[in-house]
Amino acid sequence: MAKVNPDGLLLNTIFAVLGLIALTFILSIWRVKPFQIILGRLEKVQSELPYDKKLDLIYQKNEWYLINEILSFAEQSLDKQTEKIKVLDMESDTLIESIPSGLVIIDKFQSLKKTNLQFNKEFIKDKKIKEIDNAKLWKVFEETEVLELFKQAMFEIKVKKLNGFYHLASQHYFDIAVTPLVDSQGKVIGSLGIFHNVTLAKLTDKMRVDFVANVSHEMRTPLTSIKGYSQLLLAQVEQQDEELQTITKKIITNSDRLKELFDNLLKLSIIESKYELEFVQIDLNKIFKKVLATVKGKYLSKDIEVTKDFQAQFITGDTNLLEQVFSNLIDNSLKYASKKPILNLSSEEKNGHIIIIIEDNGVGIKDEHLKRIFERFYRVQEQSQELIEGTGLGLSIVKHIINKHHGTIRVESEIGKGTQFIMELPIPKA
Ligand code: ADP
Repeated sequence: MAKVNPDGLLLNTIFAVLGLIALTFILSIWRVKPFQIILGRLEKVQSELPYDKKLDLIYQKNEWYLINEILSFAEQSLDKQTEKIKVLDMESDTLIESIPSGLVIIDKFQSLKKTNLQFNKEFIKDKKIKEIDNAKLWKVFEETEVLELFKQAMFEIKVKKLNGFYHLASQHYFDIAVTPLVDSQGKVIGSLGIFHNVTLAKLTDKMRVDFVANVSHEMRTPLTSIKGYSQLLLAQVEQQDEELQTITKKIITNSDRLKELFDNLLKLSIIESKYELEFVQIDLNKIFKKVLATVKGKYLSKDIEVTKDFQAQFITGDTNLLEQVFSNLIDNSLKYASKKPILNLSSEEKNGHIIIIIEDNGVGIKDEHLKRIFERFYRVQEQSQELIEGTGLGLSIVKHIINKHHGTIRVESEIGKGTQFIMELPIPKA
């Protein structure tokens, strides 16, 4: 039978106990580690505490006390934040409600997230829509152009506008602006639409156009009759009184002027209020040929030379309106021409625009007048020049039309050498 060595047993027991202690130590360190991490984080938060609280904690040297203090601090600041958010929410609600235009916020799936009273009043006739959770924008608007506008704003991350939108259900007109909403990472989360009711302005505008149209129509009839009778008078007095002849001729020219003035006023009024242009592709060769044929008819006594260089032959625009632009400009070139008028017509494509230039070798315009010639009724009448009849409305009509095409027009001129009108029309995206 083996003999038990008492010294060996004692040694083994000591090793076992030491091993157990070491294991317990390692385990306790391992278990305390997360606690230490939390304490470390609390230390950081501690710096946010008010000064007296910080001092208090330093003397306490009690971790549980520290945790308790910091938790109640966190609780208080959470309450404060919540209160702040509530106030901000109330402020933004008041702001949204006080906007006199309709306002809607949608998420990226076109669900309505917020609408103001004005929007509900104008567009949400079906009260049930508001009760349905996540009502969609397409339930409010049947008109695809509105839905398309919101989509484009979110897709292009750009403010998109639509002016003069006619809402069939309310029979009102609106100018709409849609702004995309992005989060802190720049990702689109929805969009905000503002609907500004412009019905009154539209109606007033329509009344103005109707008024001017009526006035010019009513004026034309007596004017034509005055002119007719004056011509009759002129034919009868031709061999008689010279003074009477002059007077009658004056009556005729003045009635012509009045007629032209009313015609131009009518044109300007219509162009200003005409919202929708009829965009088509226009061949510059063809349109200028037509315009030249008509305008040249007025200046048969003049020997006119025309050069054409259309490197960009096609533009997109409203044919009727652009015909008016080109006839006004060419008419001016021939009206304010030199003895032997030369007209240079050209076009080219540059930076997404078609540039059209109408150049003449006429009398030219002094620098001081260049800034103002596009104003209504502005006319240049130099003492040195012969008196040329006009209304001063031609160039303002031209500018309005070009602006309606989202283009620009500018003028360059030199006295005695000639004038250039340079138009830039954007090329529409395919
Ligand atoms: P209107 O010709 O009826 O006076 P417009 O608005 O067409 O009115 O032109 C404004 C003024 O600009 C004219 O009175 C004229 O003095 C000047 N103007 C316009 N085009 C030309 C041109 N091609 N050459 C010289 N002067 C011009």
